[in-house]
Amino acid sequence: MMLCYIAIGSNLDTPLQQAETAVKHLCQHPELSPQRRSRWYCSEPLGPPQPDYINGVVELSTELPPHDLLAALQHIENRQGRERNGHWGPRTLDLDILLYGNKVIDTPDLQIPHPQMSQRNFVLTPLADLNASLILPNGETIGTLLAQLPAGGLSPVETHSTVVTL
Ligand code: ADP
Ligand code: MG
Repeated sequence: MMLCYIAIGSNLDTPLQQAETAVKHLCQHPELSPQRRSRWYCSEPLGPPQPDYINGVVELSTELPPHDLLAALQHIENRQGRERNGHWGPRTLDLDILLYGNKVIDTPDLQIPHPQMSQRNFVLTPLADLNASLILPNGETIGTLLAQLPAGGLSPVETHSTVVTL
């Protein structure tokens, strides 16, 4: 079993519902065992002008190899009406593999750890909710990386708890 962290993002067609539906689809997948999710956050968009995002991170375990996990996530994106208009554009659902155990993967269609995760507080903040002492394959700690980023642009949707058990 490999412990993996999946980033969820949505900014179209009732984003909070899209995010919740994505968690439901992850839970229904026979090869995926989601354990916990971070609380949801609302974040200001990067890139072209577009609606605010809902972001969060799910912790799951799986025996799927990395590329099969990517295919499973893309299948869920497609089920939720994802249209591919390139990086940075608005989307009903974005599922990115942040970490796959402690593995480093560098192939044309899959890079793990996710190349931009260390620069994105909308990824690191929910990831830190799940495990701030998590260590990347290069030895960096989530909490330390997060402390180096400018805060702001991010507000929790749920304020009663930082983690939800699935
Ligand atoms: P982005 O998430 O960067 O805005 P997309 O969701 O449209 O862009 O993804 C484009 C491609 O990114 C996917 O087809 C996939 O092959 C590739 N990709 C590379 N590494 C990863 C990863 N760690 N998780 C998800 N997709 C990835
Ligand atoms: Mg993506």
